[in-house]
Amino acid sequence: MGFVVGIDGPAGSGKGTITKKIANLTGLINIDTGITYRCVALQALRTGAIKDGIIDEKKIIDLLDKIDIVIKNTPNGDIVFLNGQDVTKEIREKEVTKVVSPVSSIKEVRFAMVELQRKLGKDKDIIMEGRDICTYVFPNADVKIYLDATEEERAKRRYLEMKEKNIEMSYEEVLENIRKRDDNDKKKEIGALKLAPDSIVVDTTNLTIEEVTDKIVDIIKNKRNDIKK
Ligand code: C5P
Repeated sequence: MGFVVGIDGPAGSGKGTITKKIANLTGLINIDTGITYRCVALQALRTGAIKDGIIDEKKIIDLLDKIDIVIKNTPNGDIVFLNGQDVTKEIREKEVTKVVSPVSSIKEVRFAMVELQRKLGKDKDIIMEGRDICTYVFPNADVKIYLDATEEERAKRRYLEMKEKNIEMSYEEVLENIRKRDDNDKKKEIGALKLAPDSIVVDTTNLTIEEVTDKIVDIIKNKRNDIKK
């Protein structure tokens, strides 16, 4: 196993932004595991395995061995290919965001995606973000962080992010989606969003991106130095 940093936390806690910054500063390879579940959700919508809001679990499970996900890290963010097609933008659209949590609750989906995530991180020095990285995907991670922030602050951040990407959603709609996703993510049978007993909690509500980044980079540096000793 290489050096592994796991970053867990609810939607809008700052995981994506902060993980990318830390990766640039430390040279760790950044892996965003939410992408894998978003790809399954998108493919389910495209193939009719989700229709009119109804999720056909069996159809989704059947899709799993027909899905090829490739994530390319670039200085301008990740480029995501689903079965060879660039879906970087589509996986962030609100239709996908609305169904991704229930899709990621399907046991078979979790097993397949966790296997892929472990393969992506195998023997590399990585920073991996998600919900269950420190508890399930890499329970022996060298550094474990749980990012959090109040619901309102997280909704505000997501709302501004969506606006920037020209995705139309009201603040109330974003807040409602965040509440539903958090609730569902915490109740999952496998890979639920929860705090690992040995994770360090960082509340980002009143901190700037730079403050959070510096804090975690320090923790990583100290841990790396300890390992070298
Ligand atoms: O992080 P992001 O918002 O892109 O994740 C989308 C969804 O994927 C989350 O709401 C959660 O339901 C699911 N997810 C998960 N486990 C992870 C990463 C994401 O269940 N490790």
